[in-house]
Amino acid sequence: MARRKKIYEGKAKTLYEGPEPGTIVQYFKDDATAFNAEKKDVIEGKGVLNNILSEYFMLGLANVGVPTHFLKRLNMREQLVRSCEIIPLEVIVRNYAAGSMSKRLGIEEGTQLPRPIVEYCYKEDKLGDPLVTEEHIAAFGWATQQDMDDILSLALRVNDFLSGVMYGVGIKLVDFKIEIGRVFEGDFQRLVVADEISPDSCRLWDLETGEKLDKDVFRRDLGSLTDAYTEVANRLGLLPKNQPPMGKPTLIN
Ligand code: UDP
Repeated sequence: MARRKKIYEGKAKTLYEGPEPGTIVQYFKDDATAFNAEKKDVIEGKGVLNNILSEYFMLGLANVGVPTHFLKRLNMREQLVRSCEIIPLEVIVRNYAAGSMSKRLGIEEGTQLPRPIVEYCYKEDKLGDPLVTEEHIAAFGWATQQDMDDILSLALRVNDFLSGVMYGVGIKLVDFKIEIGRVFEGDFQRLVVADEISPDSCRLWDLETGEKLDKDVFRRDLGSLTDAYTEVANRLGLLPKNQPPMGKPTLIN
């Protein structure tokens, strides 16, 4: 088979030219990085888990009418996606204080926020993805006002969907990051949820015990990252030897 053309190699994924024009193959690596790649490791099986988890979330979003770049999963580590122009922003939605917000504002981790808060960071590793305001985004032309309205609406819809799905399997969605892409259809452009949605880019806490089931397990050396991601995939019923979902709703007499 002819070697595929590599388009881009990121920290957790490699992108290859897809089989049809306008498509891309996303290959999920086992590499884990944190603190702007100062901490690095290879976590066997992480790529496989993120591939199936991201497929599950992207398909679910499409089913509730949220457009995504996802086309289909090709194999254990690869998925076919629509090629899009990534807007250089990390769109973060927070339901509970944690991580950088807790540090910045001195709010204890786990404090419920009065409403979901959406933040934007400029995607630039060299600068450590700094927090920016809509003023910066408009002034530097990273997105238009119409884009920002659409991005906010997409972010909140993703939050409602993901929060509900996770709550159903006994997990609290603390916060998450998404990336948004532009796809061009003739003269029109449309914004879609792009990149990936996985425990690498979410904070997921067990509803009852508060146990962390996301990349903080790696960032903070809390145990096995594969076990945490496997637990999430198992609760969602995505693995062949499915464990009974924990935290499933129980009927009260
Ligand atoms: N996040 C991410 N990529 C980044 C920065 C943040 O996926 O480059 C996710 C992170 O996993 C968390 C949310 O965005 O779910 C908010 O992260 P935060 O700003 O608290 O940063 P951190 O504490 O992870 O540095």
